[in-house]
Amino acid sequence: MPEALRQRPLVGITVNRNYHRRELWLPPAYSCRIEEAGALPLLLPPLQPAAAGALLGSLNGLLLSGGGDVAPLYYGKEPRPGLDEVDLQRDAWELALVRAALARGLPVLGICRGIQLLNIALGGTLIQDLNGPGYLQHCQKAPRHHPSHTVEIFPRTRLASLLGEGHLAVNSFHHQAPAAVAPGLKKAAVSPDGVIEALEDPKHGFLIAVQWHPETLLHPASCLLFQEFVHAASKFC
Ligand code: MN
Repeated sequence: MPEALRQRPLVGITVNRNYHRRELWLPPAYSCRIEEAGALPLLLPPLQPAAAGALLGSLNGLLLSGGGDVAPLYYGKEPRPGLDEVDLQRDAWELALVRAALARGLPVLGICRGIQLLNIALGGTLIQDLNGPGYLQHCQKAPRHHPSHTVEIFPRTRLASLLGEGHLAVNSFHHQAPAAVAPGLKKAAVSPDGVIEALEDPKHGFLIAVQWHPETLLHPASCLLFQEFVHAASKFC
């Protein structure tokens, strides 16, 4: 690898797989935000879980992107009627990837499916379907860069130190969310209906996960989240 490239952190980004159409895909905003923040993005297709450790040895950070539902098998529950299609191989790969990343102390940023995956990897569970009474609209009809509902960011959290404590308007494109929080993780933000919208590990160098999509929410605070993640990744170069 040329020396000029070595100086920039390499951030792996998980990608979606459409099993039926035999396609891998990722909305470009993820890699754009990582590049803008000064790192080089590397897209990670689903591989055999045993490859996770070897691959992570070359990375300086891991971004868990959005995507489909995680199979309830992986958190010890049975499927509810509202569960969407799942991809067991993708789940197994990404669970291995995040566990290997955490074992190495690598900076991890989770987005949407990413917060759910992180919570499961560490022993938590999910709400399988938010399309029921008592919940806000978490799958907004507005464009992706529009904020739709608010979240309350808790004081004395890493997230509050980056984005400020109190209310923040965010976008929302999910029908699942963390339920029981995994040991070691801390709630950093909730929406007004009580849905967990951010988790973090205060003991980890950089482990923050959000349920919204900062990569498309064109807001200075969202850029700051990517900048701080890449800054943490640069320490692993
Ligand atoms: Mn939401």
